[in-house]
Amino acid sequence: MKIQAAVTNSKGEDFKIETVTLDEPKAGEVLIRVVSSGICHTDMVAQHQEYPVPLPAVLGHEGSGVVEKVGEGVTTLQPGDHVVMGFAHCGKCNQCLDGHPYVCERFFELNFVGKMEDGTCRHHNHDDQDLSIFFGQSSFGTYTVANERNVVKVDKDVDLNLLGPLGCGIQTGSGAVLNRLKPQAGSSIAVFGAGAVGLSALMAAKAVGCGTIIAIDVHDNRLELAKELGATHTINAKGVNVPDEVKKIVENGVNYAVETAGVPGILRQAVDSLSIRGVVCQIGAPPLGTDEKIDVNDLLLMNKTITGVVEGDSIPRIFIPQLITLYKEGKFPFDKLVKFYDFEDINQAVTDSKNGTTIKPIIKMG
Ligand SMILES: [Zn+2]
Ligand SMILES: [Zn+2]
Repeated sequence: MKIQAAVTNSKGEDFKIETVTLDEPKAGEVLIRVVSSGICHTDMVAQHQEYPVPLPAVLGHEGSGVVEKVGEGVTTLQPGDHVVMGFAHCGKCNQCLDGHPYVCERFFELNFVGKMEDGTCRHHNHDDQDLSIFFGQSSFGTYTVANERNVVKVDKDVDLNLLGPLGCGIQTGSGAVLNRLKPQAGSSIAVFGAGAVGLSALMAAKAVGCGTIIAIDVHDNRLELAKELGATHTINAKGVNVPDEVKKIVENGVNYAVETAGVPGILRQAVDSLSIRGVVCQIGAPPLGTDEKIDVNDLLLMNKTITGVVEGDSIPRIFIPQLITLYKEGKFPFDKLVKFYDFEDINQAVTDSKNGTTIKPIIKMG
């Protein structure tokens, strides 16, 4: 079938909406009419080839939509289902079997190398050239084909336009807190970076009853929003010693920290902000090869823990419906992060996201 998709033809080039041919779903796959898609930092990382996703490609990995057709052997989805698309994973390796599909042994291959599991593509351009699939979903298009495994059925009583970012950015931040750190009620947490991922972590900390929630960023407008979403304290990191400021709020340091900025040097600040036995979770992705200087005695004598997590350590089919439940109860108001754009305005949405005027852009396919 013919669809419209925002194609990335060469490194760093703007998205270009083109007519693209989409193949039928094969065994185990489904055809989805994409309703909307969030834009995540990793889309820009691929657009600028910091991750070498083969081009041309159709990017996008926070898609929501409606199942139109199911391939042979699909049992968990049917036409008409409302769905969110998550990351691709094999479902068969030790990590997948052990309940950690986000560290699937084939994660890089299935999400960044541009092919479906069988090594072929579903999208082709006007010259009949293959277009890479991204994160097993390529949600920057009016339709797509995805493996049943990375498609999550969701309730029909919530606005489907809103739900795509649950498949990546929002679950990344909230899952680090809810699935990995599991903070005790009344405990203290510092969130470094108040973008979409950091604010999702913050809302999750609020939802589970953390007592002191400190948001740290360099943009006052983001810190204002952090307060609205549940931060008890904020620190503008410009020109201050952040661990000192944290310890003015919680004398012996915080029980938990999440580092979402991915900026070299901030992990060390987070470690220095922790109390004895404190845990910091690294979620922001610094440039490949980034070194950080850590005092080993912080780990030994102070019993601090540094852990990393991607995609919120989540099993999307379990976790995304949980986030939707929290949202419906008013405990996870992630809609406050979102601004909607028409599909044609995708490049504007990217610009607004980069300069910080929009926290989480979502493009509507219309
Ligand atoms: Zn796997
Ligand atoms: Zn993402």
